[in-house]
Amino acid sequence: MTVEPWQEPKPTMDQLRRLVARIQSYARTSRIMGYLSTIFLIGLMLQFGILVYSQFLYFLWFPAPIYLPEWFYYVMFITFALSMVIYGLANTVNARLNRYIIEYRRIGVVVQLRCEECNRTSDRVWEKDDFVFKKEGQCACGGTQYVSQMYIMPLPLKDKDKEK
Ligand SMILES: [Zn+2]
Repeated sequence: MTVEPWQEPKPTMDQLRRLVARIQSYARTSRIMGYLSTIFLIGLMLQFGILVYSQFLYFLWFPAPIYLPEWFYYVMFITFALSMVIYGLANTVNARLNRYIIEYRRIGVVVQLRCEECNRTSDRVWEKDDFVFKKEGQCACGGTQYVSQMYIMPLPLKDKDKEK
């Protein structure tokens, strides 16, 4: 579901924060899936290489074919099945992640409102026709609020960003 910021219902800051948190966790899962599928692919290649060489080396210079134990084939089959499962899961995770990022790009701009009297600030999601110094609403103290800044909600996707 995609919510345009100028349409009802307007997205709230809570929704935006939840979306950012979800993107972070999906990005982490997607990274882990990437590592896992690389590991499984390398494992499969090694096993396939052993299989091919065990059968064909003897044509070249070995006097007799090398027979691999039965469990080798089971292991190979299990590795193959697991890598298919990981591949499917990774696809699902990445599709979700992309959808959330598209939504984030639409609503990920934050407008900060500041009170003229007491300097208290509050945030809300950007709406169409917002501009800096636009007057909007009243503060709890009775003063007029204005748009003091607009910024893109940070999206820390790398672990390095999170430490800052
Ligand atoms: Zn105020």
